[in-house]
Amino acid sequence: MDKIICFFESELSEIKSERNVLLSSLSTFKIGGPADIAVYPESREELITSLRAAKRSGIRYTVIGNGSNILFDDRGYRGAVIVTGRIRDVGVDGNIITADSGVPFTALAARAAAEGLSGLEFAYGIPGCVGGAVVMNAGAYGGAVSDVLLSSDYYDTVRDETVTISHGDHGYGYRKSVYMDCPERVVLGAVFSLTYSDSDSVRAKNEENMNARRSKQPLEYPSAGSVFKRPEGYFVGKMVEDLGLKGFLVGGAQISEKHGGFIINRGGATAEDVLKLIRYTEEKVYREYGVELECEIRYIPDK
Ligand SMILES: Cc1cc2nc3c(=O)[nH]c(=O)nc-3n(C[C@H](O)[C@H](O)[C@H](O)COP(=O)(O)OP(=O)(O)OC[C@H]3O[C@@H](n4cnc5c(N)ncnc54)[C@H](O)[C@@H]3O)c2cc1C
Repeated sequence: MDKIICFFESELSEIKSERNVLLSSLSTFKIGGPADIAVYPESREELITSLRAAKRSGIRYTVIGNGSNILFDDRGYRGAVIVTGRIRDVGVDGNIITADSGVPFTALAARAAAEGLSGLEFAYGIPGCVGGAVVMNAGAYGGAVSDVLLSSDYYDTVRDETVTISHGDHGYGYRKSVYMDCPERVVLGAVFSLTYSDSDSVRAKNEENMNARRSKQPLEYPSAGSVFKRPEGYFVGKMVEDLGLKGFLVGGAQISEKHGGFIINRGGATAEDVLKLIRYTEEKVYREYGVELECEIRYIPDK
């Protein structure tokens, strides 16, 4: 393995990278052991170079944004974790905003407000990057990426080419897109079409959404957001509450007392703790309601 990592590093040339990075530092859950190597490209070109290097060296890799929808393994990750968070160009042309994959989604919503553009207010407070949001079709408060996305660019690691796809080719559904479970397509950036408005009212809506988050979500603890997708006709938080599971602890992981749909890291939680809690909740909900919960958080195994 060391030979592969050395070769991979040599192919990266000037691109920043670091060995034995604790993945807890790259995820909002603050969980995860060491990755063999983490790479921090600073432009779309560097991201493509990193992916080509991974392919040439044969190293296993995964691409992440802000790690806000991810549960890393306690044993870490054998291979390279490629972090897009430093690829941050934004362009505005009239009501069209173009953003690189690493642009924080909240910062993009703030930029839209500053430009007097409406449509991204739902994104204000979602702690992910544009790439992760496009992949997950992130959404909140009645809005979602699929409502405002015009197109996205991705790098196809198999065909070694950059492709642009328009809205209709994203296969968008609730927390669903063509990018999911398709590691050969890496999102480089996206184009959003917004509507003209005025900065004050857009900012006010952003703040209203942020305040709603603060009052309902356990933002004071590390987490990866809602653990489960919303099953049709049910609310996870309500089912969890009615089952008396709020506050239930496994090791350092706890079902939030503030929001039953969140699992929080009370300190020292392991991925194993979280996975046990997820399985326990799934079982209880299935037995009581006959509802099969589907996990929204992406678990990334060590190998
Ligand atoms: C407190 C809290 C609140 C949240 N609230 C919401 C909410 O209201 N609505 C909502 O939808 N989500 C919410 N989330 C979840 C999360 O923020 C979103 O899913 C977000 O869009 C993930 O972005 P990310 O950059 O962190 O992606 P990551 O977690 O880094 O990655 C998510 C997935 O996308 C893949 N990926 C990331 N970047 C790329 C890329 N460039 N190309 C290809 N694949 C990529 C990863 O491999 C992984 O499978 C919340 C999370 C937290 C912690």
